[in-house]
Amino acid sequence: PVVTRFAPSPTGFLHIGGARTALFNWLYARGRGGRFLLRIEDTDRARSTPEATEAILEGLKWLGLDWDGEPVSQFSRVARHREVAEAMLASGAAYRCYATKEEIDAFREAARAEGRPPLFQSPWRDKGPEDWPEGAPYAVRLRAPREGRVQVEDAVQGTVTWDAAQMDDLILLRSDGTPTYMLAVVVDDHDMGVTHVIRGDDHLTNAARQTLIYQAMGWRTPVFAHIPLIHGPDGAKLSKRHGALGVEEYRKMGYLPEAMRNYLARLGWSHGDDEFFDDAQAQAWFDLPGIGKSAARFDFAKLANLNGQHMRAASDARLVEAVKDLFAAQQKPMPDPARLAMLEQAMPGLKERAKTIVELVDIAYYILADRPLEPDEKARRILDEDARRMLARLTSQLRNASPWDGAALEALVRGFAETEGLKLGKIAQPLRAALTGRAVSPGVFDVMVTLGRDETLARIEDAVQ
Ligand code: GLU
Repeated sequence: PVVTRFAPSPTGFLHIGGARTALFNWLYARGRGGRFLLRIEDTDRARSTPEATEAILEGLKWLGLDWDGEPVSQFSRVARHREVAEAMLASGAAYRCYATKEEIDAFREAARAEGRPPLFQSPWRDKGPEDWPEGAPYAVRLRAPREGRVQVEDAVQGTVTWDAAQMDDLILLRSDGTPTYMLAVVVDDHDMGVTHVIRGDDHLTNAARQTLIYQAMGWRTPVFAHIPLIHGPDGAKLSKRHGALGVEEYRKMGYLPEAMRNYLARLGWSHGDDEFFDDAQAQAWFDLPGIGKSAARFDFAKLANLNGQHMRAASDARLVEAVKDLFAAQQKPMPDPARLAMLEQAMPGLKERAKTIVELVDIAYYILADRPLEPDEKARRILDEDARRMLARLTSQLRNASPWDGAALEALVRGFAETEGLKLGKIAQPLRAALTGRAVSPGVFDVMVTLGRDETLARIEDAVQ
């Protein structure tokens, strides 16, 4: 059975690259009836914070990437990491290195001066217990091969090889007894039964070093898939302006999690020309050969476009939920249930016009805003002296309109326009400005039906004062 994992370091929010890595692992496992695990790599005590862990979990939840079981804290497994280092000492796969920092620095310095690679070669590699200084602190180093090649069969990068001579005897346990990241990752992935490691290609060299640890322990290496990083639309390293943001920022910008999943899945992976798809399709289609070798480019326009498609595909109730989620993300007071009901009712006319939930809320301003509205510049210009007097005359008729539906209201307003000797637009525009505070909105009769008689009259009254 397939087991994948996402292993973030809790040093900040869940950024877009991490979200994509998590998504790929989630898709791969979910599409194969496998398990998707979460491991918090919190061994760096100085940089890891509980707030960051919380933000990452929140980000994953919002994105809809559910994991199996409890998140594993890497730090909590220190005893196990030490145990493995001890086993490697006992088998001879690792050795005690008593070199001090000064000695290591001096070695590197000399190597550099002689034009050799500054790889530390510990004199302790070939020493035995009789040489060990009593009670002195030591690091545990891997006895890495000095010759030959280290090979990683990568599902994305192909076969990648390193000269063993270019790799040092990496440290497994520091002299203070703390395990290194390299050891912890291998032990955890092995113990968690991880079969596929899908992660950023900045970890490719680590894969070579980790392979040495797997081999030393006689453990089976997982399938590695190192995915190219995400770049900006200009091909340069992803900057904030071009999308290098926390997932929470996308939530605040009004993107739907299902659209984010769709967009991120396409970022570095493809399935023919398919652009728009749902989770079931993504899970069925996602595979490692479809991952590209070159950096994907983040493109806000494409994301917005996909988001618009997902909004049109979503149910009206789902979109109301998304609006509530946006208000929560922006820490704005929640609209009351009556407004939300109105919003749902008006949704068919609204969702066609918006690409993001932020745009939707903007278009739905007339539903969600409290009285008195703050008309924008254009609406204010429309509501001039004449327009306001005209609206006042219309009010008395509206008060008695029956039934309060689109057809009846249109007939009433048309009749009113005739008696006033005005074109329909000359009535409809000020009416719209009064009811929505804007010069553009869904059809004005729809707006009136949505708002209901009392709110319609109250808003006209606000405007004519
Ligand atoms: N903790 C590492 C990171 O956040 C991931 C390591 C891994 O996936 O093996 O970059």
